[in-house]
Amino acid sequence: GPFLRLEGITKIYGEARALDGVTLDIAQGEMIAVIGRSGAGKSTLLTVINRLIDPDGGTMTCKGRDVLALRGRDLRDWRRRCAMVFQRFNLVARLPVLTNVMTGRLALRPLLPSLLGLFTDEDRAAAIEALVALDMGAQALKRADELSGGQQQRVAIARAMVQDPYIVLADEPVASLDPRNSEAVMDALARINRDHGITVLINLHSVALARAYCPRSVAMSAGRVVYDGPTEGLTPQV
Ligand code: ADP
Ligand code: ADP
Repeated sequence: GPFLRLEGITKIYGEARALDGVTLDIAQGEMIAVIGRSGAGKSTLLTVINRLIDPDGGTMTCKGRDVLALRGRDLRDWRRRCAMVFQRFNLVARLPVLTNVMTGRLALRPLLPSLLGLFTDEDRAAAIEALVALDMGAQALKRADELSGGQQQRVAIARAMVQDPYIVLADEPVASLDPRNSEAVMDALARINRDHGITVLINLHSVALARAYCPRSVAMSAGRVVYDGPTEGLTPQV
């Protein structure tokens, strides 16, 4: 069966159906673009998958296991297996790149030790490895706010990687970047997908980037999936 299965997922905010019966099967190792206009429900979909928000209806299973029933430590483990990457990078501007990446490792620890925020030699080694893999090794000791937007987003991807995720959920990761930086970030996501077998879901406005990087696209409109298939089958967005 699929790695992740969503069936009839619904999320309602007052009158608005942010998600209106979303059914989706995701296999391990896929790289999928989620396409749609602002307000289509893309961001809600990603936050439901990592359980930052709970849906009002529907089911979600991972290899047959009920993800919506997870509580406590199991829920915390699920969240770190579903690493988020945000449009605005969410780095600590004044801290070194390396420290920013190491914070991803705190998700691997039980809650209380993680709150102490102390890093080990293994944390450092994992962070350096992730940075080198994304061609960011030379930036490790710079402050996060010394980097370009595209570089900062690659640091955020390295931080996601050291969480040892099953899936990376990237919410408009290139929306504030120029074309060159957008490609560098999409290259980084393609690399973690290809070299590490991490499943990647990327919310995108650009059908062109989906075509260049994602074999499969899911198009959303008004909380519904209006297309799910090969990206070549998507009609160009105007
Ligand atoms: P997208 O990511 O495609 O831009 P969103 O998932 O952010 O779309 O939003 C889908 C719909 O749900 C929109 O109509 C939005 O206004 C609404 N929505 C999202 N989050 C909230 C919230 N916290 N409270 C109220 N409405 C929300
Ligand atoms: P909106 O009116 O909000 O743009 P649409 O229903 O037109 O919503 O769909 C959003 C995007 O989904 C489109 O720009 C297109 O890329 C894709 N799409 C929608 N329906 C199809 C379809 N039947 N075949 C291929 N792509 C589609």
